[in-house]
Amino acid sequence: MTNQNEQPVGTDPCVCVECGQQYSIEELRSSNAHYFDAPHHYDRGCERYCLSCWLGVGSLDIARDP
Ligand SMILES: [Zn+2]
Repeated sequence: MTNQNEQPVGTDPCVCVECGQQYSIEELRSSNAHYFDAPHHYDRGCERYCLSCWLGVGSLDIARDP
């Protein structure tokens, strides 16, 4: 049987409370590891906010990043 109350930490996709986008902390940890450290400290918000919202730029700003 699968345990319904205890989900494995770090493997399930998170949903951003700001924009509702799904994201994977594990993926971000491997591809954007530097954001988890100073000065961004995304490790403090990675469970609730996607990286875009945490950085406060939004996907539009990322899309037109030079
Ligand atoms: Zn977001």
